[in-house]
Amino acid sequence: MPGKSVSSKTMAVFSKPVELYRFLRSLKPGKTIGFVPTMGALHEGHLSLVAASKARCDVTVVSIFVNPAQFGPTEDFDRYPRPLEQDLALLQRAGADVAFTPSSKDMYPIPPKDSTQVTVPVLSDRFCGVTRPGFFYGVTTVVSRLLNIVGPEYAFFGEKDFQQLVIIRRMVTDLFMPVTIVGCPIVREADGLAMSSRNIYLSATERETAPRIYEALNSAAAIFYGGEIQASALIAHVRRILESTPVRIDYVDIVSPDTLEPRHLVQRDDRILFAGYLGRTRLIDNLAF
Ligand code: AMP
Repeated sequence: MPGKSVSSKTMAVFSKPVELYRFLRSLKPGKTIGFVPTMGALHEGHLSLVAASKARCDVTVVSIFVNPAQFGPTEDFDRYPRPLEQDLALLQRAGADVAFTPSSKDMYPIPPKDSTQVTVPVLSDRFCGVTRPGFFYGVTTVVSRLLNIVGPEYAFFGEKDFQQLVIIRRMVTDLFMPVTIVGCPIVREADGLAMSSRNIYLSATERETAPRIYEALNSAAAIFYGGEIQASALIAHVRRILESTPVRIDYVDIVSPDTLEPRHLVQRDDRILFAGYLGRTRLIDNLAF
């Protein structure tokens, strides 16, 4: 349904891009728009982005769209959780002003493979891009469409998906998009596991093991603070810790936070990136040194 006024405190919900576009452009000039793109199944991590947007902007727009273009043919697009009513209630409670819930047809009137795609080469082809080819192409294609529809001054992304954040920054810089990308810290469960919509896939025993990932990254950070600056030694340390667990490592690497270039000698603020599997569930995490 086309939305009500932002000041009524009732969240407006749109599914048609053109209706959202018109609504946002009809707002008083000078209102700062903040945008939080998500795939729904919202948790505290997502809500922290909403809070960051509310702190900085007059109007906070949150999109919920499970983007088919970023899922590989054997990935979990069909079973990805879609608790839409619950998500809308969470957003309303968090004080979001506008929710955008398009269908695949709304976002891709022509199938993505036959229509305009936005790709950020090199950065998209490493780390998660190796195991999930085409994944970041789907991300940048949908985020560029969403940014064009919403036209925000600020867009908020979690550091949880650190490679994604760096790629989005590259995209908006390269395309001269008039938006500031704000990276927000990772929100974790009490035991350290990074919150993720996919954590619900974990069995009880996998869920017990999952915090070992963050422990391993922290342990590497402790060794770095103790004076070890060889990336290979720090990476080997993480691998050794996780060897004794059922976690199957996809990659562990230490990179420059701006360019994602792997480091040989680690500096302060570099990031250690992890991706792996527990059972069938892919988990990612990272930590700044
Ligand atoms: P998703 O719904 O998984 O596509 O995530 C939407 C946004 O929420 C992305 O910018 C993510 O990086 C961010 N996000 C997801 N999980 C977390 C978390 N645990 N802490 C902070 N941000 C997160």
